Amino acid sequence: MTNSLRRKLHLQLRRACGAALLGTMALAPAWAAEAAKPAAPRPVLVIHGGAGVERAGLSEQDQKDARAALESALRAGHAALAAGKPALDAVTAAIVVLEDAPMFNAGRGAVFTHDGKNELDSAVMDGASGRAGAVAGVHRVKNPIALARAVMEKSKHVMLVGDGAEVFAKQAGVTLVDPSYFRTDKRWQQLQKALKEEASGQAHEDLETAKHFGTVGAVALDAQGRLAAGTSTGGMTNKRYGRVGDSPIIGAGTYADARCAVSGTGWGEYYIRAVAAHEICARMRYAGQSVREAASGVIDRDIPAAGGDGGAIVLGANGDFALPFNTEGMYRGWIGADGVPHVALFKDEKLTEPAAR
Ligand code: ASP
Repeated sequence: MTNSLRRKLHLQLRRACGAALLGTMALAPAWAAEAAKPAAPRPVLVIHGGAGVERAGLSEQDQKDARAALESALRAGHAALAAGKPALDAVTAAIVVLEDAPMFNAGRGAVFTHDGKNELDSAVMDGASGRAGAVAGVHRVKNPIALARAVMEKSKHVMLVGDGAEVFAKQAGVTLVDPSYFRTDKRWQQLQKALKEEASGQAHEDLETAKHFGTVGAVALDAQGRLAAGTSTGGMTNKRYGRVGDSPIIGAGTYADARCAVSGTGWGEYYIRAVAAHEICARMRYAGQSVREAASGVIDRDIPAAGGDGGAIVLGANGDFALPFNTEGMYRGWIGADGVPHVALFKDEKLTEPAAR
């Protein structure tokens, strides 16, 4: 007999006999006690590599490489979960793989600023403890997610920026590299194109030319029911003036609590104004919405209604997750306890759903 059938029978029995009769565990049959026990959480990891997927700009090889990178990120995170490590470890392990992969806009392969530099932002949040760490505008940190985590675990602060963050990175033993490490020709060409469009007056506004959303993120649920979220990005092509997007801002692009974990990707200014990641979790917490309802309300309705676009990955404490996006595609994937990675790139591509819980 399945657990849900047992639960149904138990409920019917309770109704028929009156709550008083079966109201104490002493009187309840053994299977009723078993059915009342909450099911142990099934570990799961969900990732994204940005909502800026455009079929036209991706060769067959690019697609293969992106899928392979997403799969290795999922495997790296799954290895942590399978070893009984906390959700936080799964999130950071997966994001390190994506930061190291040059096709995503994070770590190596990050987009360029107007001045031809790479300025990286990242944040991590542990839903169980409510602790968080973030960095913005760093340009020598090989894996910004590692520095965000170090800020959370080794400092009294939540967010460090620029040169100061790099002084802290040195002290915390986080790997620094020469800024040229982040450069890829593809991103350089994207900047040249954006600059040309801007000069010819084609761009409607500073950031309009630059929707190469390739931010990476991960959310995980571990065997003890703990949630965590992390995000890492180079921001948006042609950004200036020390612009910082939503990714490193707790509550905007990254958020986790005991019920919900979110990592966003998209036009950061809109995510900040909507406090998007926290808003999704708040709708679950205070309005009793499901992961899907809350995620879709913010990503499919509110952000586009305000003029923005993008996507997010959202994971609930019961293991339900949603991956909404309103662009042509989003690099995305998930992996459950069986260790089989599932990935998808385009909108018309269906991502295998987990078996019913
Ligand atoms: N959200 C990021 C930002 O605005 C961009 C992205 O998702 O790729 O900085």
